[in-house]
Amino acid sequence: MPTYGYRACGEKHCDVCEHGFELFQNISDEALDKCPMCGAPVEKVFFPPHISTGTSTKELLSDKNIKKHGFTKLVREEKGKYRKI
Ligand SMILES: [Zn+2]
Repeated sequence: MPTYGYRACGEKHCDVCEHGFELFQNISDEALDKCPMCGAPVEKVFFPPHISTGTSTKELLSDKNIKKHGFTKLVREEKGKYRKI
């Protein structure tokens, strides 16, 4: 289970990529270089250590924890289409 997400790296961003989001995707899918919601350039970011320290991956990636830290979860529905969960 990856413990990284994406976050806007330029000046342009939306609510989703401003604080970062986590994307569930197949291992074979290409890494994102753009926010699926607004098209802003994004970079891969690791979850901050203060979130992951002493926390299991399951807790780390729970909806509650993700939302608490301002992350958004996205699910890939089909090529080029993503949905917030
Ligand atoms: Zn965005």
